[in-house]
Amino acid sequence: MITAKTKLLGLIGYPATYSLSPVMHNAAFKRLGLDYIYVVFSVQDVHLKKAVEGLKAINFIGANVTIPHKETIREYLDEVSKEAELMGAVNTIKNVEGKLWGYNTDGYGFIKSLKERSGISLKNKKIFILGAGGAAKAVALSLAVEEVSDIVITDKLKEKAISLSGYLEEKVSCRSVAISLEDVDIGEKINNADIIINATPIGMKKEDPLLINIKHLRENQIIYDLVYSPLETLLLKEAKELKLKTINGLEMLLYQGAKSFEIWTGKNAPINTMRRALSKELR
Ligand code: NAP
Repeated sequence: MITAKTKLLGLIGYPATYSLSPVMHNAAFKRLGLDYIYVVFSVQDVHLKKAVEGLKAINFIGANVTIPHKETIREYLDEVSKEAELMGAVNTIKNVEGKLWGYNTDGYGFIKSLKERSGISLKNKKIFILGAGGAAKAVALSLAVEEVSDIVITDKLKEKAISLSGYLEEKVSCRSVAISLEDVDIGEKINNADIIINATPIGMKKEDPLLINIKHLRENQIIYDLVYSPLETLLLKEAKELKLKTINGLEMLLYQGAKSFEIWTGKNAPINTMRRALSKELR
């Protein structure tokens, strides 16, 4: 029941018409008997500053931030964590005695799920990433911190891949190259990789094509698709048929949410409850 004591949390995005976060967090609050509620706010760019001021004024415990505000919200916050600064993006806010702190839990969610699902050490692994947007940046930076051997980045716009690759070399001294999907040695790069990650939205729609040629895949590779709807993209389906280890985006979503939950409440997140809530909603 919502009372005068209920603590408030929410998601800020635009257009935030659909999100899995309320289902996941409200199930977790219920499981731990916490008098918290998580709601969603669709906030246009022009209202972002006022919305952030509102979080303070109404004494929100915290919030999540999603597209398109992850980068621009920074200027309205009081402090940001080291990770959020490096990633140039905030996905979690905590209200600490009237000061708003920004965090980024996407990288944590990715690494935690990858380690848990694959059971391997990431040190010296070769990485191939499709996409050079916000999610790719969080994933690549957190892999660099794990001391992977090198990261190949490719994107629709090669300039975008070059920019992320340069950022990785400059900020975290990670060996990285940018190539285009049409490059002659793309097949060799895919085949050389230990872990291949899709960080583009391609795979969400039924009619979406495969961005890579399956014939370049080889045994013992791990294929991670950040897309969580559908749970099995065409890329994952093809990889499964080749008996490769596959991971879908639900796990990253789960663990980034679990980390946000821990930042807000100081309690261990009830992972199984959150996973069940997400799976049920996605089905
Ligand atoms: P984003 O910033 O828009 O980045 C996506 C990148 O993919 C852009 O650089 C885009 O290029 C590129 N791209 C689009 N179509 C392409 C194609 N056909 N070939 C090559 N590159 C292409 O989006 P994002 O926030 O990084 O998210 C990417 C995906 O990850 C989304 O599906 C999102 O739902 C998912 N995601 C999942 C989680 C999770 O927790 N599981 C977390 C974050 C994101 P253009 O900009 O030129 O279109």
